[in-house]
Amino acid sequence: MSKGNINVSVENIFPLIKKFLYSDHEIFLRELISNATDATTKLKHLISIGEAQVEYGAPKIEVKIDKDNKTLSITDQGLGMTAEEVEKYINQIAFSGAEEFLEKYKDDKNETGVIGHFGLGFYSAFMVADKVEIITKSFKEEPAAHWTCDGSPEYTLVEHDKSDRGTEIILHIAEDSVEFLEDGKIRGLLTKYNRFNQVPIKFGTKKINDPDFTPQTITDEEGKETKEPHKQIDVDDIINNTEPAWTKKPADLEADDYKNFYRELYPMQFEESLFHIHLNVDYPFNLTGILFFPKLSQNLDMQKDKIQLYQNQVFVTDNVEGIVPDFLQMLKGVIDSPDIPLNVSRSYLQADGAVKKISGYITKKVADKLSSLFKKDREDFEKKWNDIKVIIEYGMLSEEKFFDKAKKFALYPTVNDEYFTFDELVEKTKDSQTDKDGNHIILYAANKDAQHAYIEAAKAKGYEVLLLDSPIVSHLMQKLETSGGDTKVQFTRVDADHVDNLIKKDDTVISKLSDEEKDKLKPIIEGSVPKESYTVQLESMDSDASPFLITVPEFMRRMKEMSASGGGMMGMGNLPEMYNLVVNTNHQLVSDILNADEDKQKELISQAFDLAKLSQNLLHGEELTNFIKRSYNLIK
Ligand code: ADP
Ligand code: MG
Repeated sequence: MSKGNINVSVENIFPLIKKFLYSDHEIFLRELISNATDATTKLKHLISIGEAQVEYGAPKIEVKIDKDNKTLSITDQGLGMTAEEVEKYINQIAFSGAEEFLEKYKDDKNETGVIGHFGLGFYSAFMVADKVEIITKSFKEEPAAHWTCDGSPEYTLVEHDKSDRGTEIILHIAEDSVEFLEDGKIRGLLTKYNRFNQVPIKFGTKKINDPDFTPQTITDEEGKETKEPHKQIDVDDIINNTEPAWTKKPADLEADDYKNFYRELYPMQFEESLFHIHLNVDYPFNLTGILFFPKLSQNLDMQKDKIQLYQNQVFVTDNVEGIVPDFLQMLKGVIDSPDIPLNVSRSYLQADGAVKKISGYITKKVADKLSSLFKKDREDFEKKWNDIKVIIEYGMLSEEKFFDKAKKFALYPTVNDEYFTFDELVEKTKDSQTDKDGNHIILYAANKDAQHAYIEAAKAKGYEVLLLDSPIVSHLMQKLETSGGDTKVQFTRVDADHVDNLIKKDDTVISKLSDEEKDKLKPIIEGSVPKESYTVQLESMDSDASPFLITVPEFMRRMKEMSASGGGMMGMGNLPEMYNLVVNTNHQLVSDILNADEDKQKELISQAFDLAKLSQNLLHGEELTNFIKRSYNLIK
């Protein structure tokens, strides 16, 4: 029997391990299963290169709870360790790793929040156990070894009679960690971290119907027929799928395989995804994965099902900030990379070159996939547009490289459900929608119903009206206006002004009213509408156009919108609503107002003003009630 001292400079390291990893005790299981998995795949490798002459068989990892003895054990059939190797790998190397980790972070209080992203390896077992045993038999012809350590720097190492190859780690669960002796707890952890583990994991047994047994129909004395009960047998309960879809070649997968994998990954998600992107790169870093575009429409809320990050099929986190570009965090799926440095802090991770490259690669892959979907089946792409536009628009705003690519496939739907790319739109409207100063005006509406009258007026002029309703579209318009190169494109909402003023052409309409008459009319109208919110503006328009019209100047409205969705001119969101009241001096009603007596003037102005408000959806409550009353009086 040998006794020894683990080489420590920190006095009693184990209480420290406990303290530092307080928030994330549960990762010990992931660490021990990773070691068991490594031991198994290493053996496979040694056999394949002829360095181990043993039968590989069908190895599995078994996790077992012994409630009576308060132990949790993890047993593998991997390469095992000789006593000498236990000395080296457990007492020296593994320990120095744990020690280094603590040295580095024990004074750094700020880092404790991210501590869960550190792998402490084998010694994380002491977060939940006050004594740990290793019983291990190497594939080499040597006796098995039995290592025991009770959390002090002392350990014992003796021979053991274990005869089958592999390693058993026995944790004597500490009083404050008895939750890890509960079946449900362990099963939960195994499914969280290891449900795609490379080596099968057995956790208990389950009953299934015996496949070799067919129930017979039995006839009793009275001739009554009954069916024999099914025979049940116990089989290993394997909790993982060792070959999840992302580990396979895209060529070997059908559309249904992706669908099924989506369901496997998010069992509570009943909506199917729109399409997937299979990631597969081995230079300059290793990365595999499958990303799904979910059905999103306008819902920007953080959703429960997030992209999951794996390292060699072991779950690490679903916080992929810094690894996946922001605009793609709304996607779902899995990325798996052995190259992501997991044993470091988040801030380090974000500065890491490999991680930055991963983010760039993912952006490029997503852009390429969207581009190919667009080219292959435009009709289908148009159908999906509403669900994917928020992600694409967000990407165009946040990643310059993505913008350059997406400009070719981003779509701009019209109120008539036609879809144009930006170039198509510019080409289609440049002749009819360029004003006298050479500005190319693109008209849009945000709501087909609310802006109906304005849309109709613009359509009557032969203009195209887009329907742009996503929450960040005002930012995108701003960007398109400033990055259009030579074309001076300007977006204007249909209700920003009277249709003749939206796109100013040279043909000026002659005014029916003289300047004196206008000077007389303006204060009369101003006296009847709330001054704080409405600026009265007299215009000589077509005599068929509405006499009164409420408009919202494009600049003001857009700044308010951008402020509300973040960015733009901060603080503008709090400005009061301001409108223009455009009065068409060529309309007969306006002449009538001018010539009427004071009471009649008031009545006509109120009525026309209310009608204008009504068509902007601005007439509510008491004002609406008064309007209805007044209207009945007028027709009675
Ligand atoms: P890491 O896994 O990062 O190397 P660990 O602290 O988890 O660090 O493990 C230290 C070493 O102990 C491993 O590299 C391995 O050599 C050895 N080891 C741990 N668990 C096992 C096991 N189940 N079978 C064989 N060797 C093991
Ligand atoms: Mg390890």
